[in-house]
Amino acid sequence: MARMTKHTELHNARLSWQDDGAPYSPDYDDVYFSREGGLAETHYVFLQANDLMARWQALDAELVASDRHAVFTIAELGFGTGLNFLSCWRLWLHSGCRRLRLHYISCEKHPLTHEALGKALLQWPELARWRDQLLRFYPDHTAGYHRLPLPDVTLDLYYGDALELLRQQSSPGAKIDAWFLDGFTPAHNPELWSDEILATIAALSHGGSTLSSYSVTGRVVRELRALGFEVEKRKGFGHKRQMLFARFGSEFREEIRTPSSAVVIGAGLAGAMLARSLARRGVHVTVLEQLPEVAGGASGNRQAVVQMRLNRQADALWQLNLHSYLYALRCYQALADESGNALNWHACGVLTLDSAYTHTRKGGSSQDYSHYPESVLQQLSTEMTSAVGGIQLQEAGIYLPGGGWLNPAACCRLCLEHPLISVRTGVKVAKLERAGSEQWQLSEPGGALITRSELVFIANSYAANDLEPTENLPLAPLRGQVSHVPSTSDSESINMVLCSERYLAPAHQGLHCVGASYVKNTDDAQLSLSEHEENLQKLGAITSGLNLDPKTPLAGRVGFRGTSRDYLPMAGSVPDPEQPAHRYGGAQHFHDSPEETRLPGLYISAGHGSHGTVSCPILAEHLASLACGEPSPLPQPLAELVDPIRFQRRGRRRSTSPEQ
Ligand code: SAM
Repeated sequence: MARMTKHTELHNARLSWQDDGAPYSPDYDDVYFSREGGLAETHYVFLQANDLMARWQALDAELVASDRHAVFTIAELGFGTGLNFLSCWRLWLHSGCRRLRLHYISCEKHPLTHEALGKALLQWPELARWRDQLLRFYPDHTAGYHRLPLPDVTLDLYYGDALELLRQQSSPGAKIDAWFLDGFTPAHNPELWSDEILATIAALSHGGSTLSSYSVTGRVVRELRALGFEVEKRKGFGHKRQMLFARFGSEFREEIRTPSSAVVIGAGLAGAMLARSLARRGVHVTVLEQLPEVAGGASGNRQAVVQMRLNRQADALWQLNLHSYLYALRCYQALADESGNALNWHACGVLTLDSAYTHTRKGGSSQDYSHYPESVLQQLSTEMTSAVGGIQLQEAGIYLPGGGWLNPAACCRLCLEHPLISVRTGVKVAKLERAGSEQWQLSEPGGALITRSELVFIANSYAANDLEPTENLPLAPLRGQVSHVPSTSDSESINMVLCSERYLAPAHQGLHCVGASYVKNTDDAQLSLSEHEENLQKLGAITSGLNLDPKTPLAGRVGFRGTSRDYLPMAGSVPDPEQPAHRYGGAQHFHDSPEETRLPGLYISAGHGSHGTVSCPILAEHLASLACGEPSPLPQPLAELVDPIRFQRRGRRRSTSPEQ
């Protein structure tokens, strides 16, 4: 853990177990839940006090009547064993809501290990069904935001200090409808009840947001009142005299922020994932694709690998790559569960040999990667790579047990299969311009109007440069040729992705995908024999180890990845290229400087390069959250890394820095 900064360190909870099997924290000298009817206390103090069922049902009835959708967001301080979360999820399923969604955020500084969480929840057999679903995705490592795509509810686990994590929310419109204050007793856990935390809670509340807690500590009550909460002390649970309930502001109003419709330009992985994230929020989405079919561009390969980009420092970029990867694995698993694995997702593991790094300065297994959790990344010796890979390999390497491959086109089709999504192929958007103060107008090359929309997402890779509002964003095509190589009896037995300077995906229907080449500054889409031969040659010892024919006939597919100047994806609200003219009066984000303006209702997801399988899922959620005014899965430092405004900021910094 030597390289970790203060911000990325995470220590699991130290527990002792009481005679009845309930967990106890020796560090905070407190219990996680009441030994007398913990489940009933959860229900009384949090679910009932916040009047959740009645609020959900009233809001849902309003949404049905007005044909709209919305989200109800709960934030909890102290996830602990997840008891509050599971009972809330169970209640939600009894609500019968059709238009309202549930989003549950929970902050936790010391997550229980996976094993301890399972053990603690054995206390509640009535929650077993939900516990098992939670345990499938529950991470017990890595600081930061973890989004879990559970059926019926989105769970965000914020690992680290609650104050820092809540303050880092990157979505400017995000508000919390109900707060569960469930830290250990304020006397033992003062940081979770500090004035700064309470002020942050107020800043993230709207008129009508509610809050409850088992604790009625005088200082907390006084501070909440000073912040604008109306506070009531109610009768406590069981033998406890009192509990706390509070409501923010005087006017009671549930917020509806979900837009009703949107247009997505591009039906590759970026666009399809975005359309899915929007449709799941109740947005009617029209997807426009210039090619005759979905995933006809770089997302159309037979097999796409899901593997993480490595970083030597535990910094924000490391967090972005790690969290994007972890979310992608969960997202593909959830999609596979829902669809009988229509996307052909195989979490078979990815083994990368040291020769993959020969031509980069990044180094291989000799580097220190101890800042990665062991369950995510393992450094293997030469003997171990052969044992894990199942063939004779003369190199050490890095193994990602959770990685794998999928069929990206099938994944795109699956994402687009939703009653709120309509896909129009063969439609090229040639012009995107402002029509009046509210809408964007999209037209075809001849000038014919395609449609108008308040909300547009540009997800057509480097072709974003053909549209005026995004013409200056630094995107470029990068040709990649994948070879289709017939499997051999030796190679059929390989059940993981093997990588040297090229990757080899496990045999599927008698073929391996081997790829991919990198060629800049060309738009030639023909298969190239030299790139094909280079693919096999750059597999190194893998080719001979598997008895693959290095002279296998030319077969494969050419695609063009879209890359950005810094090789990081671009995802965010599109900056006004003519700022500071404020042409359209666009909104600003929390952290924007006064001269920065965004084009209203216009977002981009592009520049995913050769890692789109990893970056597209989380960035789709990020953009859908920004557009719907919901909490994003990216904290601010990570959102800034992908924000398209970064190029303007760098340009401005260069132009204002004193001459050397
Ligand atoms: N709600 C939990 C449940 O359903 O099991 C019980 C929560 S337990 C009483 C309090 C939790 O707050 C502990 O898991 C503790 O690690 C966490 N915690 C303490 N200080 C924290 C902080 N500064 N930020 C985030 N979590 C914190």
